[in-house]
Amino acid sequence: GDALAVSARVAPLGSRLVLLLVEDLTEARRIEAVRRDFVANVSHELKTPVGALSLLSEAVMDASDDPEAVQRFAGRMQIEATRLTNLVQELIDLSRVQNDDPLEDAEPVRVDELVAEAIDRCRHQAGQKQITMAAGGTADLHVWGNRGQLAAALGNLVENAVNYSPARTRVGIAARHVAGPGGDVIELAVTDQGIGISDKDKERIFERFYRVDPARSRATGGTGLGLAIVKHVAASHGGEVTVWSAEGQGSTFTLRLPEAGAARDRAQQHPDLD
Ligand code: ADP
Repeated sequence: GDALAVSARVAPLGSRLVLLLVEDLTEARRIEAVRRDFVANVSHELKTPVGALSLLSEAVMDASDDPEAVQRFAGRMQIEATRLTNLVQELIDLSRVQNDDPLEDAEPVRVDELVAEAIDRCRHQAGQKQITMAAGGTADLHVWGNRGQLAAALGNLVENAVNYSPARTRVGIAARHVAGPGGDVIELAVTDQGIGISDKDKERIFERFYRVDPARSRATGGTGLGLAIVKHVAASHGGEVTVWSAEGQGSTFTLRLPEAGAARDRAQQHPDLD
């Protein structure tokens, strides 16, 4: 359609330019499609709890002479309201990590503090499932980046490890310093003994709103946005997140981030890159 029209108009300028313009159009269309999908997904995800709340409030009114039923409906309203709050909070987190340049207020961040914070965030839920959490190798390590974003990323990984594991299993967080040609990195590996992820799903779990089992994810208060946030934080810090998993055995998510000393030295050597 418009790609052809454009190529006819610019043909005299040479075929390479035409190719570039057509590629640009294709990319612009792809971005537009992704944006439309995202808005459709958000609308759907918001409609589900709002619809449930509306039905439940009607049920409460109809059951006004049955206190037990009122209690039951009110309890379910609370669950739906929590779901809605989680979703809105994660949407805010996602837009924040996408819009803020994390390196603007980057600083050396202690790994032991990040790990302690992530464990704290899941302590209640892990306790309910009698899941043991253990961390190792975190002493004296520092990563370079935005403290809030890094805490959100690691917190999401640990939260998932707890969510997708059966009772009485173990979640481990192992940290280590790895020297590399592209600069030193800190590796943070979160390992669980949970349900695992198939090869087919591994490719998609980092997409916004993708869930292997939507019902299970919703039951644990999941929004499908957590890993998209983790991936974005890793990339914008010059790091990466990868997954190893075996179905029925467990998963390891590894977050690689620039080591603080190395990152600071680089910034000092090339102040214009700061
Ligand atoms: P959610 O809010 O659903 O947890 P995420 O983006 O954090 O969303 O994760 C996307 C999906 O990846 C989850 O719904 C789940 O199916 C899968 N997943 C994430 N972490 C794990 C894990 N540690 N073990 C098994 N499956 C996982």
